[in-house]
Amino acid sequence: MLNRPLSGKAALVTGSTSGIGLGIAHALAAQGADILFNGFGDAALIEQLQQQTASVHGVNTAYHGADMSKPEEIEAMMKEATAHFGGVDILVNNAGIQHVANIEDFPTDRWDAIIAINLSSAFHTTRLALPYMQQKNWGRIINIASVHGLVASAGKSAYVAAKHGLIGLTKVTALENAHTGITCNAICPGWVLTPLVQKQVDARAAQDNIPLEQAKKALLMEKQPSGEFVTPEDLGAMAVFLCSPAANQVRGAAWNMDGGWAAQ
Ligand code: NAD
Repeated sequence: MLNRPLSGKAALVTGSTSGIGLGIAHALAAQGADILFNGFGDAALIEQLQQQTASVHGVNTAYHGADMSKPEEIEAMMKEATAHFGGVDILVNNAGIQHVANIEDFPTDRWDAIIAINLSSAFHTTRLALPYMQQKNWGRIINIASVHGLVASAGKSAYVAAKHGLIGLTKVTALENAHTGITCNAICPGWVLTPLVQKQVDARAAQDNIPLEQAKKALLMEKQPSGEFVTPEDLGAMAVFLCSPAANQVRGAAWNMDGGWAAQ
């Protein structure tokens, strides 16, 4: 398994115990990258996840449970990354949460949590990862934004604000490092059927008193012209491309993979 394109690189994927982050972690490991997992979940299952990834892909894995809303825990995780792997070559800022309510009803603690986890955490990991990448003159920073970084939906004020902000941070990071081997880009998925979206499917089914399958279709058809979910595997392949030499000059892009959502 030697000589794979990402052999010898260490990737930190935040929020990689589930959904899109897990898909991206697997895709990077399949190309030879060592993986530092992060995210919440059952300790035994996370241990299993690490071990399986290590044995299937022949890479080193580690885990840090930093709460991405807490800068001091992010600092501890970045220190552990240095101790374990020397530093982070590939940083995927993926951890995220959602809350849906109109602005006048939006709980202020949910606003603060969404801004902290979906936006500020990427600032903290990026500022702490850059010195090592600059020293090596190579790095990849991939911010998992959303089609909601490009367009809005009612009821998602904090999420839309955070994701638009994340695309802004992506552009600044790309520009500040444009003369180096470090690139920074955002990926903007449309609907992906993960636990984050399943909650919205469940809420739609309850609200309209319809079966889950019908709620899924209703959500998709409202926004996503393909009528099909994007998958974590599709997004993993995009992340692998952004890590490849072919993407050396892809800098500051916000690349939607959204079944046509933003084309409307
Ligand atoms: P998910 O709920 O399946 O996974 C979220 C991950 O983030 C989990 O590993 C969870 O443990 C972790 N996490 C949550 N809060 C955390 C915290 N405070 N500290 C550390 N980890 C934390 O969700 P997902 O759909 O895979 O979402 C991943 C990213 O993709 C998010 O940023 C989300 O906004 C974005 N996204 C999702 C969709 C979609 O349709 N699912 C679409 C566009 C963008």
